[in-house]
Amino acid sequence: MDNLDKINKVVELILESNNITALTGAGVSAESGISTFRDKNGLWSKFSPLELASIEGFMANPERVWSWYQYRVNIINNSNPNDGHFALAELQKIHKNFSLVTQNVDGLHQKAGSENVIELHGSIIRNKCFDCNQIHEESVINNESLNNCKACNGLIRPDVVWFGEMLPEKEIKLAQDLSFQSDVFLSIGTSAEVYPAADLPLIAKRNGAVVVEVNPELTQLSDYVDIKIELKSGEAMPLILEEYKKRINK
Ligand code: NAD
Ligand code: ZN
Repeated sequence: MDNLDKINKVVELILESNNITALTGAGVSAESGISTFRDKNGLWSKFSPLELASIEGFMANPERVWSWYQYRVNIINNSNPNDGHFALAELQKIHKNFSLVTQNVDGLHQKAGSENVIELHGSIIRNKCFDCNQIHEESVINNESLNNCKACNGLIRPDVVWFGEMLPEKEIKLAQDLSFQSDVFLSIGTSAEVYPAADLPLIAKRNGAVVVEVNPELTQLSDYVDIKIELKSGEAMPLILEEYKKRINK
């Protein structure tokens, strides 16, 4: 089957499905100019994960961690959603039961119009207090006074999940339940190496879902999926959307 046959097959599955869950990763935002982590030119090839994305790294040098996050927030603030994000947002509006779970922290799904996005790894746009967990919506960029929490004077940190930290309980539980219930599961632009997110397609598969991967490269998951579309998200998702709209006459 070539990629277009596979897209038609996926559209047929979507037409028959009651519950779709899509899991997205950094690859979905690559076409918006935001680096992924594990690619050859990804962020981890240039920076040490443990220095920049762990509690120990933050405690050792909060300024270094903040300046890295501010660098990334700047890039994200100057980026726009791409055709992949927009197609996912529209699919979600047309299909009666389409849930979107993301490992991304960039807010681009929401910017593209997606609602109820389940953020497994938090959001780089939000900050929170290290000690009392209070959310600080304001950006820390160029605002030194925000570096301490107004409520308890604790240190402020980005509201993202770092290495060694637990995922937000409500979000991961919901994502697991949705994966369990889904009959079609789409894994888009993720290397499927970060657990527990990487378990979600496997939970879906064990419970009878058809699992589709959209990724130009091979991943940990590729051997287990039912359909592998070797295209970029910004190419594959609009094709799926257009074909789906044709079939339901929208
Ligand atoms: P990853 O970097 O491990 O993997 C990215 C995957 O995307 C790779 O398999 C790659 O082949 C694929 N890819 C690259 N370009 C693509 C495209 N145009 N279309 C489809 N696929 C493409 O990313 P991950 O699996 O999301 O896991 C990494 C962790 O990194 C997550 O925890 C996430 O929080 C964090 N992260 C987030 C962002 C972001 O918010 N945009 C960016 C970098 C990392
Ligand atoms: Zn506080």
